[in-house]
Amino acid sequence: MHKRLFIPGPVDVAPDVLEKMGTQMIGHRSKAASVLQRSISDKMRKLMFTENEILLSTTSGSGLMEGAIRCCTRKRAAVFSVGAFGDRWYKMAKANGVPADKFSSELGQPTTPEMVEEALATGKYDLVTITHNETSTAIMNPVEEIAEVLKKYPDVIFCLDTVSSLGGTKIDVDKLGVDVCITSTQKCLGLPPGLAICSLSQKALDAARQVENRGLYLDLVEIYDYIQKKDYQYPSTPSLSHMFALDYQLDKILEEGLENRFARHAEMARYVRDWANKHFEMLAEEKYASNTLTTIKNTKEISVKDLNKELDKRGYEISNGYGDLKDVTFRIAHMADTTLDEVKALLVTIEEILNLK
Ligand SMILES: *Cc1c(COP(=O)(O)O)cnc(C)c1O
Repeated sequence: MHKRLFIPGPVDVAPDVLEKMGTQMIGHRSKAASVLQRSISDKMRKLMFTENEILLSTTSGSGLMEGAIRCCTRKRAAVFSVGAFGDRWYKMAKANGVPADKFSSELGQPTTPEMVEEALATGKYDLVTITHNETSTAIMNPVEEIAEVLKKYPDVIFCLDTVSSLGGTKIDVDKLGVDVCITSTQKCLGLPPGLAICSLSQKALDAARQVENRGLYLDLVEIYDYIQKKDYQYPSTPSLSHMFALDYQLDKILEEGLENRFARHAEMARYVRDWANKHFEMLAEEKYASNTLTTIKNTKEISVKDLNKELDKRGYEISNGYGDLKDVTFRIAHMADTTLDEVKALLVTIEEILNLK
């Protein structure tokens, strides 16, 4: 039996979308490949609210995170971390010899505009990374306020990790002034893992051209120049299977309507939060609570492992806490094509298993 996944990636993929993964291959240097890749880019621009170029990478989201920090940091990167994924970005900088400093918030707290202002006022940094939606704590950072600070520093490249939020909540890339907005397929977009997507501003591109050692496979300039020269084809053989499915899924997303899709996510989030507040506690403060997943404090000291065992028998799976938050929290994802009714059914099942009143 298939278990309905309520984990924050990979998510369940709709059968018709999954079927597109099985499309027969086309030559990656064919006209058809150009058409497909251009079509994806045009639709992604709508979803990201941007006019910037879209780059695809046959890696998971981490690939473009590594590419962005390595390619676009000329001087020094300021990495703002609210948990596991900000920490990962810092590790990537270090592993690539990119000078970087990490600014961590307390667990469950957001990156504040004040923190960003204080760091940038030193004049030491020319690139900032922000985790939009931290998937360990389920914090959604106040990105509009952070963006206002960044607008005062026009030479600083703004990289935003939207891996667990893009497609589930509005990220107005151009209005926010995001230079590199990164996501991947297996979370809010509702596809199998294996493809990463980013938008790239002219400013980020110009910055990257000044960086000498950008690597090759994840070199954003190499990818950018290639798709300009070769009509949206990629330097190496991309995962065409993902591209068939992504192009199709983007049609479905646009058909649902972006505002409807974001509203559906907000509604599911509100429902799970109310439930969490009734039976447990939220890790995040209400104002920073994510619209795509919820991290719940395990105030009843239940065994998350046993709960998942029982859920398994009933065809569901949720997530334990991440890293240090294992067992002291658990997580319920409400993203991609999940519906409110499915969320309700899951929560009722948990109530039955735990005998919650
Ligand atoms: C899942 C996730 C990542 C890593 O993405 P991959 O596609 O697994 O490489 C990075 N950042 C956030 C916020 C995530 O949720």
